[in-house]
Amino acid sequence: MPYDKSVFDRAHQILSARRRAAVDIQAKNRQQAFAAIPRLRQIDAELRTMGSRIAKAVLTQGGDSHQLLEGLRLRGVSLSEERAQLLRQNGLPENHLRPQYTCRDCRDTGYLPSGRRCHCLTELLREVEAQRINAISSMKLSTFDSFSLDYYPSGPQRQQMEGVLYYCRDYAETFSRSSHNLLLMGPTGLGKTHLSLAIADAVVAQGYAVLYGSFANFAGTIEREKFGQAATVGGDTLSTLLDCDLLILDDVGSEFVTPFVTALLYNIVNTRLNTGRPTIISTNLTFSQLGETYSDRITSRLGGAYIDLRFTGTDVRLAKGRQR
Ligand SMILES: [Zn+2]
Repeated sequence: MPYDKSVFDRAHQILSARRRAAVDIQAKNRQQAFAAIPRLRQIDAELRTMGSRIAKAVLTQGGDSHQLLEGLRLRGVSLSEERAQLLRQNGLPENHLRPQYTCRDCRDTGYLPSGRRCHCLTELLREVEAQRINAISSMKLSTFDSFSLDYYPSGPQRQQMEGVLYYCRDYAETFSRSSHNLLLMGPTGLGKTHLSLAIADAVVAQGYAVLYGSFANFAGTIEREKFGQAATVGGDTLSTLLDCDLLILDDVGSEFVTPFVTALLYNIVNTRLNTGRPTIISTNLTFSQLGETYSDRITSRLGGAYIDLRFTGTDVRLAKGRQR
């Protein structure tokens, strides 16, 4: 996947910080364990000299080197067993004296012994790429607390919005990779963007990779990456859109609709449904307008697999303006 160099650099910085932390924790654990269980220090010292004794035994190549090596091997096994037992007796895990890597598969190097990229680095690249794209789309996070129902006229509209707010808050708090897809529908100025940003804020705080942006911006970037001069553009926005834990496409229908955009929207919706990744779409269009603007293929995918939340009433931004 052709990530930007800055994304690789950032991911490797994070890995190297993890390695440093693993070694720091190891040093602290050893110090504490040796102070509490002095025998562990003796075992550690003897095991450390064994490497050089084995090397000497091999180098001298005497007639009895085989016997000597076997003796050393058995001694090593017995010391390791004694150490494991001491740790267990003191309620410590057997790996307590080893570096505490975040990923044991690659020891936080990002690469497996075979030379292939480790799953942890793949995950990290995705997260860093999502942060990069969010920074470009200037994600200004809103919160549920700053969402005021006071701007909605009391009566059915406020009740309706109370329900929507409650649903979105619950959705964000209980988010998982198997959460539903949402379709936020209604005219401009009723809080769709505010609530989708509040969901993004809460889900990001739980450690998920969330991508938020206007569909028009995403489509423009992807088109440039696909058809522009790849070398000067960099990044793989489409892959990140397809892969992230939660994708929020804001303001679908406001962009200049071309066959490329229609195919792109279908690709995103369809791929994420097939791979079971939740998506939130907000739009000013009605269901039938979505079908006319894009295609019935898209509305049939949306209709079956998205829960729609209706934002109704008059533009609350006007009410906010009057209060200023
Ligand atoms: Zn790893």
